[in-house]
Amino acid sequence: MNLKGETAVVCGAGGFIGGHLVRSLLEKGVNVVRAVDVKPLDDWYQVSPHVENLVLDLKDKDSCYQAAEGVKLVYQLAADMGGMGFIENNRALCMLSVLTNTHMLVAARDSGVERFFYSSSACVYNGDKQKDENVIPLKEEDAYPALPEDGYGWEKLFSERMCRHFEEDFGLQCRVARFHNVYGPLGTWSGGREKAPAAICRKVLEAKTSGKHEIEIWGDGHQTRSFMYIDDCTKGTQAIMESDIHEPINLGSSELVTINQLVDIVEDIAGVKLKRRYKLDAPKGVNGRNSDNTKIQQYLGWEPSIRLRAGLEQTFAWIEKEMHALENA
Ligand code: NAD
Repeated sequence: MNLKGETAVVCGAGGFIGGHLVRSLLEKGVNVVRAVDVKPLDDWYQVSPHVENLVLDLKDKDSCYQAAEGVKLVYQLAADMGGMGFIENNRALCMLSVLTNTHMLVAARDSGVERFFYSSSACVYNGDKQKDENVIPLKEEDAYPALPEDGYGWEKLFSERMCRHFEEDFGLQCRVARFHNVYGPLGTWSGGREKAPAAICRKVLEAKTSGKHEIEIWGDGHQTRSFMYIDDCTKGTQAIMESDIHEPINLGSSELVTINQLVDIVEDIAGVKLKRRYKLDAPKGVNGRNSDNTKIQQYLGWEPSIRLRAGLEQTFAWIEKEMHALENA
């Protein structure tokens, strides 16, 4: 399916990925008629002109009908989420996103939507397969037998299956991507919902500015992860939506690093070396996680490839600007 010229709504458009997605879809020639988020417009990371920007709570069914009206494509990214510090302490809130996903699917079905994109997560994967820092990259089938991240991961897995059955039973074409740790500018970098790359950029900047050359790291720093730069995320999202991939698929980088290596890179960008304090009782998630990209390569002949160092330079520079702007406000 060629998306060019098709009408679309992006749900969760005031958030990090949703904001970038609206912009990239418009650049591609998709007719994004509507962008929806529950946050007041002033709090959206990006607001695109010439788009109907609506503040709606998509847990409410009527709002979902309003969002889906008259569009062919739905991008459903709205979710109550954050980094490990948020999802480990707000399991019920994370699971309540099931209302948003359910009502959006029903509204899409009833409104004649042709394609529905759902942003799932690597948090659906079986925890037993992520106990070792020396991870074997996760293949799509490793989501079963099910033992996902409590709360957030269960909700994502359930909603993935709803997409599958809405396609089987009602003919609503669904595309499901399992995002692995997305990072970049114009996203959350403070306040408790931020994820590791943004949190580390902020902490390194705070240490540098204060002259107190210390950093707190959650866990022992040996946990391994891969991080996908936002431009790869929006590119992959578009390609998956256009494709004939009828099963959940990994969308993540396969460049594996330890959290200590992530800190090394950010220190290097900042030109500082900090004393590390390890907070072993902090939420740290699984010990190791990486994306197996065999399937996306087979389907698309492509996988996320922007190097972590390059993406972190952009992210760091943006957070530095934000911090300066706050100081001078
Ligand atoms: P984000 O928090 O920046 O964006 C999510 C947006 O959804 C927020 O702006 C929020 O206000 C909005 N929202 C929440 N509840 C809503 C509701 N009831 N009605 C309308 N809007 C609502 O997060 P993000 O990083 O941009 O994530 C986007 C999607 O990708 C989410 O579904 C998330 O679970 C998924 N995901 C993200 C990552 C990542 O690393 N960022 C990884 C895996 C999956």
